[in-house]
Amino acid sequence: MNLILLDPSEVEGAYAYLTDARRITHLREVHRATAGNQLTVGLQGGAMGKAQLVELSDTQAIFSLESLNEAPPPPLPVHLVLALPRPRMLARTLEHVTALGVKSITLLHTKRVEKSYWQSPELRPEKIHQHLVLGLEQARDTHLPTVTLSKGFRPFLEEQLPTLLNGHRGLVAHPGMTQACPRDIQERTLLLVGPEGGFIPWEVEKLLEAGCEGMHLGPRILRVETAVTALLSRLF
Ligand code: SAM
Repeated sequence: MNLILLDPSEVEGAYAYLTDARRITHLREVHRATAGNQLTVGLQGGAMGKAQLVELSDTQAIFSLESLNEAPPPPLPVHLVLALPRPRMLARTLEHVTALGVKSITLLHTKRVEKSYWQSPELRPEKIHQHLVLGLEQARDTHLPTVTLSKGFRPFLEEQLPTLLNGHRGLVAHPGMTQACPRDIQERTLLLVGPEGGFIPWEVEKLLEAGCEGMHLGPRILRVETAVTALLSRLF
């Protein structure tokens, strides 16, 4: 927790009141914080700065907010379309991509996504929110990404993809493509990453027909969470 992300409901005037066990335990056991310590805080959706810990008990942390005038880091110019991975991989991937600065995410159904993954508790809004918050706390950022669920490949292709591609360069990560993943691009990008079994040839064909470019990351087949991190680092 490199940043204490404050929900607006936790702030009253110049003070912030935290009562959740996760952050209180972290403050006590990892930061070993004591009254008088200065810590980095950020207001969800707003500015970041310093706050002084006034009181820390088993059930409550009180901060006096000092200077909240630092802007969060800039977002990446990317919309990530991620074929829904298995729940544990989803949790980690959401955390990583949020820490890297992704602000729009679509979770997509494709042929090789297990249908049962859509029933996972990890897809509950409060669980998704938790992973996004962990990513923001890690990277010192305050702006939550938006996460959209797209449970049909064909409706995505026909109804959403044309709009998403508007003003964006569409890139499909798929092993075996002839083009290598571009480096250091400045353009707004729609990045599509396949499921653990990969996109099927028909899906790749349809994405290319819609105007996306296929690209690869070399001969090593990477896990989804590794591939996404490598792709974002290399692209931006
Ligand atoms: N057997 C699958 C295949 O060949 O497509 C492997 C899928 S991989 C575990 C999951 C996703 O990560 C892929 O669909 C792709 O989007 C991305 N990925 C992993 N390694 C990649 C690579 N070397 N080049 C491009 N994309 C890669």
